[in-house]
Amino acid sequence: MAARRSENPHAIFIPFPLQGHLIPSVLLATKLASKGFTITFVNTESIHHSIAKSLATPDDDIFTKARKAGLDIRYTTVSDGLPVGFDRSLNHDQFMECLLHVSSAHVDELVGNLIKHDPSISCLITDSFHVWPLMISEKYKLVNISFWTEPALILNLYYHLDLLKKNGHYDPLDKCDDIIDYIPGVKSIKPKDTMSYIQATDTDTVSHRIIHKALFGGTKSADFVVCNTIQELEPHTLLSLNQTQPFYAIGPIFPNEFTQELVSTSLWSQQDCSSWLDNKPIKSVLYVSFGSYAHTTKHVLSEIACGLLESGISFVWALRPDIVSSNDTALPLGFEEQVKDQGLIVPWCNQKAVLSHPSIGGFLTHCGWNSVLESIWCEVPMICFPLLTDQFTNRKLVVDDWKIGINLCEGDLVKREEVTNKFKDLMNGEKSQEMRIEIKKTKRTLENALAKGGSSQRNFDQFVDEVKVKIDQMK
Ligand code: UDP
Repeated sequence: MAARRSENPHAIFIPFPLQGHLIPSVLLATKLASKGFTITFVNTESIHHSIAKSLATPDDDIFTKARKAGLDIRYTTVSDGLPVGFDRSLNHDQFMECLLHVSSAHVDELVGNLIKHDPSISCLITDSFHVWPLMISEKYKLVNISFWTEPALILNLYYHLDLLKKNGHYDPLDKCDDIIDYIPGVKSIKPKDTMSYIQATDTDTVSHRIIHKALFGGTKSADFVVCNTIQELEPHTLLSLNQTQPFYAIGPIFPNEFTQELVSTSLWSQQDCSSWLDNKPIKSVLYVSFGSYAHTTKHVLSEIACGLLESGISFVWALRPDIVSSNDTALPLGFEEQVKDQGLIVPWCNQKAVLSHPSIGGFLTHCGWNSVLESIWCEVPMICFPLLTDQFTNRKLVVDDWKIGINLCEGDLVKREEVTNKFKDLMNGEKSQEMRIEIKKTKRTLENALAKGGSSQRNFDQFVDEVKVKIDQMK
């Protein structure tokens, strides 16, 4: 068996097959490759197919440009257990059941074959939501590195499900108005600000089973966890997590050129909004997006649309065709015609490019973690409308803790009059100025963390060194 070289470790990297997980995973893979790692990056066939379809000139290997730039990243695909053409968005539970029960067999076979051809492979880097990393890393004697793409607070809350349950704040959540102040590393949080899976009435869904199996049957025993967060933004939570396992805040993980992609990761074609935005005054346009994954109702979208129309505020709305369901149209009849001078509606765009355009002055967001980090980086204050999973907790961080956004409404009780008023508040109100000052400071915190000697840079270097030590120990 060839020796495992710790100087240039070789890691297999397997992201979770969703847009919001794929983007930071590809960026982490290139960051590690820039540090001398060899990476074999594995997408599901379905993700690969979507990326290829989104491109004018598809490439069989999304890392071709990265390799030309000198990075040692190889690329392959694996089946998630379903046919490529299967509508995963419309059949969410079936998709998740496959990730829970079927995907491990495909991954096992792939990893076995990769190691047979290249025994120098020493590490497995996987998204923390995968259910099989512990089994695979033990079987093939690989260093097990877990990538947590959400704030540290979320993982910390999941790690303490037992405490939440004991106190009546999970399964069933029977004390909605309490303050939760007994979790190590969390000063206080209300039940309504916990993740949707904690607030759910049914806690035996396939997503719950994935969370339990992935986190308690895997992530908790990973050799290392790296997290796309920033030490200065979550100091207490990180301190607490670090007492249980080696945990590194290395975010925000962005490309060197914020709006330029070395690697294509978009699952849909990006519509260019720049010429439309170029004609708008500075900070006058509201950007609206609910991310890649969440669904909502026609009623909610109709209230938001009517509120937007009434506000008169210019907007770019990235509205996925499957936001309501893959089979239904989303907006009220005639809306697009009514707003043709006020707004631009596109199915999907380059969000980083839109957010960094000088004409953007606010972001109506579902509070996906990537969107939050990108908005901070572009100093664009947010109006928050979380829909599921970690988004409720991310809103708490944005609105209550960091004061860089406002809340649209509680739950999905959106009313058009409130939408109009809140949009005006966000764009021009008194609070708007305060938020702009705060978000500038928060952006500086992110910049400092990434700068030479900054916390994220130090943590990343330390993480890389410790991985090398671990590889040597496992030889
Ligand atoms: N995004 C994009 N174009 C769009 C909408 C979103 O490029 O029209 C990107 C966005 O920049 C972010 C990711 O998709 O990086 C969405 O991730 P996030 O964590 O915000 O939400 P999720 O999609 O996971 O719910």
